[in-house]
Amino acid sequence: MMKNLNFNFDNTYANLPDLMATKLAPIAVKKPELIIFNKELADELSLDFSNINDQELAEIFSGNKLPEGSLPLAQAYCGHQFGHFVMLGDGRAILLGEHLNKQGKRFDIQLKGSGQTPYSRNGDGRAALGPMLREYLISEAIHALNIPTTRSLAVVSTGEDVQRETNLKGAILTRIASSHLRVGTFQYVAAKQDLETLKKLVHYSVDRHYPELKDETNPAISLFKAVMKKQIKLIVNWMRVSFIHGVMNTDNMTISGETIDYGPCAFMDQYDPKTVFSSIDHYGRYAFTNQPVIANWNLARFVETLLPLINPDQEQALKIAENLIGEFDDLYQDAFHEMMKKKLGFITDEDNDKMKINSLLKLMHKNQSDYTNTFRYLINKKTPQDKLLNDPDFIIWENEWQKRIERNQSKEEAIKLMMQNNPIFIPRNHLVEEALSDANDGNMEKFEKLLKVIKAPYHDHTDQFMYTNPAPTGDRVYKTFCGT
Ligand code: AMP
Ligand code: MG
Repeated sequence: MMKNLNFNFDNTYANLPDLMATKLAPIAVKKPELIIFNKELADELSLDFSNINDQELAEIFSGNKLPEGSLPLAQAYCGHQFGHFVMLGDGRAILLGEHLNKQGKRFDIQLKGSGQTPYSRNGDGRAALGPMLREYLISEAIHALNIPTTRSLAVVSTGEDVQRETNLKGAILTRIASSHLRVGTFQYVAAKQDLETLKKLVHYSVDRHYPELKDETNPAISLFKAVMKKQIKLIVNWMRVSFIHGVMNTDNMTISGETIDYGPCAFMDQYDPKTVFSSIDHYGRYAFTNQPVIANWNLARFVETLLPLINPDQEQALKIAENLIGEFDDLYQDAFHEMMKKKLGFITDEDNDKMKINSLLKLMHKNQSDYTNTFRYLINKKTPQDKLLNDPDFIIWENEWQKRIERNQSKEEAIKLMMQNNPIFIPRNHLVEEALSDANDGNMEKFEKLLKVIKAPYHDHTDQFMYTNPAPTGDRVYKTFCGT
């Protein structure tokens, strides 16, 4: 155990019934080397490592040396993966513990890629450098876009190879989350048919994420409603910035409402609602426009786990659950509409707003317009050329839009709202690939530069064209692979 680090561990998950986790330490790696460290996040966590050199940081964030107060464990969970129910669990991750910052906020500190666990199935428990740096970059982008997410504190290379289609450099990511409670965690307990543990898990989740619901008469119902609201907000935010998660299995949906598990995710450039990047998503289950549908489906799986706590009478419970999940559509449509209004600078409401929003999306689809740049174009016209801008129907639409935002409100306020909701910079796929390819060869320059840009996605700056240009036409077919 490494002493005198200023971690402030308070490990509550370990107190849940034994079936919830397996206590075990990360498996040591050969030659840990610090690749990147998130000083800004460390500050937020009230963690000060200024007395520690990079080599010692690498020892800690590879799991080779455990900080005093940590209580390492792998969590058990299940999940519907592409619709199929599977027993899972942390197959390549170890929770070091829960750390409290100076404000008393609780954070899970987890090492991802830390070696085999009882939940590894046939996997090696390890992760490769490229995908871990990718998670670091994209999760920090999502955070900077003001969207709830797990975050990345460090990436350490292991000095070991991992065997995939080819041999790759191994690495470990330190993931920070407000918790790792998943829909899949509830599915696991429900599958065990352990009602007492289920009750404990509901209370634990309420305590940790929704303390304001503590005194509600039916905590399971209240928890479900709260999670549904949070998830709707999350998905709408993804739609706002054109983020495609790519693998929205129930084990990748958190109770906290944070984005988790950056595998085959990517940002969409040209607007096509059917966009899919993941190489294994043959049927478009997790396509851009299908994300709310899947969130709804996952939440239905969540409410099923809660049935015995919703009402002791099975039929009653089912009826209540159906009503609860039945609210998803309206709630989502409203939230989506409010979000699109902000993107277009509509402060007040007008009867034709929905139609205006839809006709813009249709025009964007027809012209394969760049999603991010189209909305920024409306703000200040400082965007790269796009076919859409010469479409006569768009010119008519834009005129109408001008008149629309000049009615009922000040134009400055509308523009301000738009600037807060429409990023200039997203991590564009071709730039991400270039940065990762260099990083894999030991050159972090492009990665660091891109990281700096995506950390301030709403801030105009001079050399922006390189980062706002869509991919050259040849690079446009983009595939991502389940980052293992
Ligand atoms: P993911 O696709 O990252 O959400 O992972 C799905 C499940 O597979 C989780 O239980 C992971 O822990 C597990 N898993 C993914 N990659 C590996 C690996 N290389 N070794 C062991 N388990 C893995
Ligand atoms: Mg996962």
